[in-house]
Amino acid sequence: MTDQTAPKDPDGPEGTAEQVPTSAAVPSQAEKKTKRVSQRPDVSYTPVSNGLDYLVSVFQHLTEGATPPSARDLKYTVLHLQAATEVLLKARLAREHFSLVFADPTQATYDAWQKGDFKSCGTLDAFDRLRNIARLTIEEEDRKRIKELSDHRNALQHYGLTHNAYAIEARAARVLNFLITFIHRHLIPGLEPAEAQYVEQGMDSFRLQLRGIETLVKQRMNDLRSELAKLADVTVKCPDCEQWAMIADGRDEGPTCLFCHQVWPEDPMSAAANYAWIVLGLDEHSSFQDGGDPPVVECPDCGVCALVTEAVTAAGRPGATPLCFSCGTVFKSLIDCEGGCGTVLDFAPDGESIPMCSNCIDIRFARF
Ligand SMILES: [Zn+2]
Ligand SMILES: [Zn+2]
Ligand SMILES: [Zn+2]
Repeated sequence: MTDQTAPKDPDGPEGTAEQVPTSAAVPSQAEKKTKRVSQRPDVSYTPVSNGLDYLVSVFQHLTEGATPPSARDLKYTVLHLQAATEVLLKARLAREHFSLVFADPTQATYDAWQKGDFKSCGTLDAFDRLRNIARLTIEEEDRKRIKELSDHRNALQHYGLTHNAYAIEARAARVLNFLITFIHRHLIPGLEPAEAQYVEQGMDSFRLQLRGIETLVKQRMNDLRSELAKLADVTVKCPDCEQWAMIADGRDEGPTCLFCHQVWPEDPMSAAANYAWIVLGLDEHSSFQDGGDPPVVECPDCGVCALVTEAVTAAGRPGATPLCFSCGTVFKSLIDCEGGCGTVLDFAPDGESIPMCSNCIDIRFARF
């Protein structure tokens, strides 16, 4: 391929030997790369450009089709975003030492590495090894998102797509944000200057497209702003799309996200548990181990076990507001029953009432 022939067919296939996508993302750079790659046997080149290829595909599926993206586009968004994450994290890990890419580094041999004949570690293992061994500064929040992406990909492989377009779009934008920063901070600095420049140019295009996706998300949130403003005291961050658009106001259909339309039909208990675990990072088991109170308790108003004692609402953030995901009650004066039974009470001291539940009062009076 020469410089004279390549521009004549900008949309055609770039060549079969190379996995260089003919995307608008890195238009004029693709041919330079094709020429360069055969001259340079640099092991770091292949995985990074492979990861970039997947990212090009993710952006194509997210931005070039219908709005919101079709089920097929969403499927490839999830699959290729997961693949990009895996390839890029491992590319950085291999730079630390090739054995770290093996599922079991103690079994690693250079021969197996060269042949590519080995079982490699999982994406989350790669993330953990980058943090714990390579000592990269990468956030727990990002680990959580990558885990959700892997779970999501597995669910997609086995059960088909269950999540809706808006949730996938919003979540993909966050993972893309992480990857673009990761490439910039942790991958580009180890490349030789010509490659680094090529990759950095690709990044510019990715950032621009990501801003486009983020703008869509923002516009959608803007459209919901007046509706959400009226419901700020019962609005929390949605565990599915991470937007501040999940309404727990006791409506019949159950807690509902106005952004991604996720509903927990008639199941406020799992909505509350989901929220506590995914958004607040609290679960029943670990709070029990820590000797703390469970994150979701029985509501003194409706009796359903859907009261999130440390919910963070749009009106009350950053402080915690006890909110029942079943009846939508916001509690102002929640206390633990002084009888020590673990029941939570809505108690306003009036000088006369006893800060105990009726059970504990019965037991107390029965003694005399
Ligand atoms: Zn949502
Ligand atoms: Zn309630
Ligand atoms: Zn009690």
